[in-house]
Formats: sequence, C-alpha cells, structure tokens
Amino acid sequence: MTPAAHTAVPPALSYELYPPTNARTEKAVLQVIDELAGTHPDYVSVTYSGTPERRQASVRLLEHLVHATRLRPLGHLTCVGETRESLYRLVNLLVGLGVRGVLAMRGDLPADPGAFRGELPFARYLVELIREIEDQHSAALAGGRMAVGVAAYPNRHPESPSFQHDIEVLVSKERSGANFAISQVYFNPADYVQLVTAARAAGVTIPIIPGIIPMSSQNRLQRLALMTGVHPDPALLHRLEIAGSDAERRRIGVDAAVALARAAFDAGAPGLHLYTFNEARACVEIVEALNLPASRALPPVPHPAISA
Ligand code: FAD
Repeated sequence: MTPAAHTAVPPALSYELYPPTNARTEKAVLQVIDELAGTHPDYVSVTYSGTPERRQASVRLLEHLVHATRLRPLGHLTCVGETRESLYRLVNLLVGLGVRGVLAMRGDLPADPGAFRGELPFARYLVELIREIEDQHSAALAGGRMAVGVAAYPNRHPESPSFQHDIEVLVSKERSGANFAISQVYFNPADYVQLVTAARAAGVTIPIIPGIIPMSSQNRLQRLALMTGVHPDPALLHRLEIAGSDAERRRIGVDAAVALARAAFDAGAPGLHLYTFNEARACVEIVEALNLPASRALPPVPHPAISA
C-alpha cells in the first residue's frame, strides 16, 4: 500500500539533526543538510541537550536553518535544569529568530541526584509555558500559533511505572496545548500500532508521528537500547554483526527502517520522522525506497518575481 492512499495530504517528512560543536562537525552537518534538503522535508528538527556550549550550538544551527536554507526548523527544548525565566528567554529567542515550531520535552534527569532539576518537573508545564509566551507574541505571529510537539513512547519510558501511565501523560500533554507528538525509537511495528491505539482510546487526538532510525549500526542500536530501554531484534543485530562491509550494513539498516515505516503508514501514520544521527545517505535511501509523494517539493530556485 502506498502512504498517500491513507490521507488526502501527503505524509509529513522530517529529520532530526544534532548541532555541530566544532569546525569539522560543522562542515559535515552542512553537507548533511544539503543532501537532506534534496528530499524536501516538511521540517528539520534540532536536538537540544548537554553543556551550555552544546545548547548554544543548537540555537546557532536553528539560526542557520532559518537564514541560510529554505528548510523549516523545529527546535527541541528541554526544561530540565532550567528556570521559568531561562526558558522564557529561550522561547523568546527562538520566536525572534523566526522559529515557529518547538518539540517540548523534559529532558533526561541529571545523573547527580543533588543537581538542580529545573523549575518545571514535566514536559507538560513547558508546553503550557510556550503557549503562555505565544500569547504575548500573537501580533508577531500574525495571530497564528507555534507548532508544539511532544515526545510519545511506544515502549514504556524508563522512569514510568507502566505503558498506560505514559499514555495518560500524553493525554495531559495534549490538554496542555501540544498539537503533535513524535515517537521514541521502536523496532517492532506492533509497538507503534499499540501506542496509537491506546492513545486514541484514551482520548488523544493529535497526530502521532513514528520516529524511526536507519538501523545500520550495531553499536548505535546498543547504545540507544541502554539510553531508552528499547531493544532491537537480536536477529537484526546478528545480521549487522556478520555483514561484510559498511555498504551491506547500510542496506540491512535501510531495509529494516523501510519495513518499519511501511508498517506505520499501513497503520495510518501521518508522517515519518527520521533520526539521522547526522548521516544523510541512509535517510535519503529510506525516503527514496518509500517513494513518498513529491508534492512537498519547492521550485529549485526561489521564484524570481512575484507578479507574472
Ligand atoms: P515527560 O513527558 O515530562 O515525562 C518524563 C517522565 O515523567 C515519564 O516517565 C513520565 O511518565 C513521567 N511523568 C510525566 N508527567 C507526570 C506526572 N504528572 N506525574 C508523574 N509522572 C509523570 N532529550 C534531550 O535532552 N534533548 C533532545 O533534543 C531530545 N529529543 C527527543 C526527541 C524525541 C522525538 C524523543 C521521543 C525524545 C527526545 N529526548 C530528548 C529524550 C527525552 O528528553 C527523554 O525521553 C526524557 O527522559 C523525557 O522527556 P519527556 O518530554 O517525555 O518527559
């Protein structure tokens, strides 16, 4: 079944990027952005975490996307370790830069139990704060709204008592003003279906976009499993382990991601969010294999004149 068969509009396509922190990674990220831009994504999201320098690098990458590309950026924001005032400043800064979409999250808790955890304990309060700030900017936004996304979990969040608890948290994030959700990585097609089914049964109405990674690197999958508690199929890990070359590993990872995305589209997914890990090639291959409708495509160069 083709993705377009499910919806009147084409499925959304988005990518997640990490901000570069030195000249070498900056060159690489600019190259990745160029390659991904050729697939005409609806938006490109920029992660936000780590040291103050890394966080500043996120803001600089958003600025670059706004001013030097034709891509629409979505800024990740986390409230862990932040005061209401620092978050106010950050959201105002993003609005001032021209960013019109935010993925509002709590972030991972600091390893040190004595460290400052921030004034907002959960993501839903960040969503509310963004909506509050948005009200103050309604003239600048021409009366419009920011797109505010949140994280959703096909498998239980590591701190959660249950999957059902995560669903209730998602309900509360929508009530606080979220208008879409992106899923955490998952490896079993049934996990996305279970998330959407449970969320709809609990009253969640916002789009839930599957977040998928190219499964080409055994090390990366294992690191992710440690961070998220989501474990890939051991058979896939074995195939990656015995693969004879990087090209073969990429093919295995792309095929697995394509199968996961197809299953999500068959279950009615409204879009696809690819965790790129700042590697374009596998992502472009996934998008090409899925043959997503090209109606997002912009003209190759800015239109030279407004009137005919
Ligand atoms: P919350 O929704 O606040 O939930 C956190 C925990 O608290 C959960 O266990 C939840 O069940 C529980 N909880 C929530 N509300 C309540 C309540 N009222 N009572 C009791 N318990 C409650 N992290 C980064 O640092 N930077 C990023 O850029 C980043 N990008 C991400 C992108 C995506 C698409 C996803 C899925 C995750 C991303 N993360 C990122 C990871 C995310 O920050 C972590 O998963 C974090 O641990 C939880 O964030 P959250 O917004 O889901 O938190």
